[in-house]
Amino acid sequence: MGRTDYLDKLNDKQKEAAMYTEGPLLILAGAGSGKTSTMTCRIAYLIREMDVHPYNILAVTFTNKAAKEMRDRVQKLIGEGVNMWILTFHSACLRILRRHAELLDYGRDFAVYDPTDQKTVVKNICKELNIDTKKFTPSYFLSIISHCKEQRISAREYNSIYGTDFKEQMVGQVYDRYEKTLKKNNAMDFDDLLLKTVELFEENEEVLLRYQDRFQYIMVDEYQDTNMIQYTFLRLLADARDRDGNVRRNICVVGDDDQCIYQWRGADIRNILEFEKDFPGAKTVKLEQNYRSTANILAAAHSVISHNRGRKAKKLWTDAEDGNKIIYYNADDEKDEARFIASEINRIAGPDVLTGSPGGEDYRQFAILYRTNAQSRTFEEALSTRGIPYRVLGGLRYYDRKEIKDMMCYMRLVQNRADDLALVRIINEPKRGVGGKTLEKLRTLAQVREVSLFDVLLDDDVIASFSSKVSENLKALAGLIESYGIERDNMKISDLYDGLLVNSGYMKALEEQHTVEAESRLENLMEFKSVIVGYEKEDPNMNLAEFMERIALLADVDNHDTEENAVTLMTLHSAKGLEFPYVFMPGMEDGLFPGWRAFDREDGLEEERRLCYVGITRAKKRLWMTSARTRTLYGRTDYTRESVFLRELDSKLLDGDSVYEKKDRRTEGVFRDGVSERIPIKPFDQLKYAQAQTKRKAEAMAKAAGQSFAAGDKVSHAKFGEGTVLEVSGQVIRIEFKDQVRKLALGIAPLEKL
Ligand code: ATP
Ligand code: MG
Repeated sequence: MGRTDYLDKLNDKQKEAAMYTEGPLLILAGAGSGKTSTMTCRIAYLIREMDVHPYNILAVTFTNKAAKEMRDRVQKLIGEGVNMWILTFHSACLRILRRHAELLDYGRDFAVYDPTDQKTVVKNICKELNIDTKKFTPSYFLSIISHCKEQRISAREYNSIYGTDFKEQMVGQVYDRYEKTLKKNNAMDFDDLLLKTVELFEENEEVLLRYQDRFQYIMVDEYQDTNMIQYTFLRLLADARDRDGNVRRNICVVGDDDQCIYQWRGADIRNILEFEKDFPGAKTVKLEQNYRSTANILAAAHSVISHNRGRKAKKLWTDAEDGNKIIYYNADDEKDEARFIASEINRIAGPDVLTGSPGGEDYRQFAILYRTNAQSRTFEEALSTRGIPYRVLGGLRYYDRKEIKDMMCYMRLVQNRADDLALVRIINEPKRGVGGKTLEKLRTLAQVREVSLFDVLLDDDVIASFSSKVSENLKALAGLIESYGIERDNMKISDLYDGLLVNSGYMKALEEQHTVEAESRLENLMEFKSVIVGYEKEDPNMNLAEFMERIALLADVDNHDTEENAVTLMTLHSAKGLEFPYVFMPGMEDGLFPGWRAFDREDGLEEERRLCYVGITRAKKRLWMTSARTRTLYGRTDYTRESVFLRELDSKLLDGDSVYEKKDRRTEGVFRDGVSERIPIKPFDQLKYAQAQTKRKAEAMAKAAGQSFAAGDKVSHAKFGEGTVLEVSGQVIRIEFKDQVRKLALGIAPLEKL
């Protein structure tokens, strides 16, 4: 027997769970109650006290980060390194498949295709089938295929169930060919890893028996987020029999039904709710003491989550002190919100103004947890202005994001056509059929002639040498940059941005993808308009050059080096399982958090509420919640309404300058005593609106292009008033106004014939 001091650190319930090793076990407990800690100790206990060989243990979780952390912690508990399967679902399956690939008719060294590979495959299939990938993107097919695989609907089944209408037939065909191609290439995608492992087990009893025999003890963290296929995988492994034919189900699952936040990706909350039914004789241990948070934070979490209906009743307690109340700050707008948060961080962490000594707390103890990535930008600005180091986890810093960089390159080109770097970046963004060869040719010509790449684009003879589609596309691009170049100082920067976004085809290409990723890129692009509108408000006369300069400075501020001691910015989703002493939850507004989509369905709202619970329970010492009375999102400023979750939160727990009072006229009758009787009024879908607005503007500009002008025409310009056309050549029109002659671009300049 080894030392058992690690067990002594556990409370009675935790110890009971860690030492209950035979038969199914469910550890169902709220956030911060030590579920993950208990599971780690259980592994150590099995090895050190029960003499279980590490080889006989399988522990799975969801993210690489979580798996690594658990491996490290177990290693610490049992001493020197052991080779044990503490893995994510995917990597566990990959290991199994490598060994038995032949049984599934795959080569042992099969490839694993990542999303980029998958897209290439589908693209080729679309070409074969003459499918217009502008209308139906590869991502569209892939998301359906993935969904099918999660539900175990094979291509053949799909074709026999669906296929009544044209679209379904097309999807069925693509799915079928996709599967055949992967097979032919000896490749699997991520979904296959789980799916094929399950197939392997189902079709090869001796293999299944082998793994059942090997994995005598199975453990799963964050079980509430498993989907159907992961469940089947576990179930197959756990339904083992010992030598005497008795069932042995040493499966221990750990989770919190209140933290299921991945239903939109197929997670099935029933897996955890019905564990006791699925595995008869299961022992359930409920951990009720929370070790993470202060009593006030815990009470706040509870007051929110108790509004969910389909949940197992459980309440956490703590013997920690009450701690501070939850600070609520209702900001004027999103800038004020960010300023407030940055100054709070400064107040607690910043250097002491009086003594000059460095501040009390490390920056790494702070986290800002937001609902959507698009929110990060204002915080990045506020933090960097104050010199507070930060890092954006699980996402790029705002100005590092692809779509933002792309659009900035369009604007850079408009500002400065000689910017070859910018042109190379966007020449095939969106897809214009410009491949490496075309680009090479353009480059060589530019070098030989000692001109910019853009100048080469203006050479009709060169352009004509490409295929008709490419040449058409490149002409359009050159025309776009040229006309906006002429107009850039006659128009608002936000209008210029709208025009580029729409007329370059960039926005449309994203809209047609219909994926979560594309949606989030659109959000970011629309959010970029807020940046522009913000600058325009500050300085209505700012021109494009000045604007680009300001942005370049911001984008350059490099806080990457300071990772070891930096404030963490991330989405609420990626914060699952983590903890921080100081947590900020900004954007507590209906339509943002909960997101507007949640208002369509009650269970959508419940999932958002669980996310709110996850957020609150990340905090150890102090929690701030903020909202903004007006928010500029996607370039549009709107009055907001405080989040339903704030209204649900016990107001006794809130503190701050402007504590929310429950007398919002718009919600009267809908909320009674803070309880949502009905789903509240659906908030405005700002993203859709912003997209439509942007398009309308661009269309209006295009309409003007339809008019034809000739020398001598009387015209009126929105800004310069009335004038007379002097000359029209190509896209350029020269007009004499009262006291100036101006060159304008047809199709962009707000001109009207009189
Ligand atoms: P989540 O639901 O967020 O995943 P969890 O239930 O997995 O949370 P842990 O992360 O294991 O909780 O633990 C939360 C915190 O409580 C950790 O800081 C951990 O060290 C501490 N903790 C857990 N058990 C005890 C205990 N018995 N005594 C003191 N501290 C504990
Ligand atoms: Mg945990």
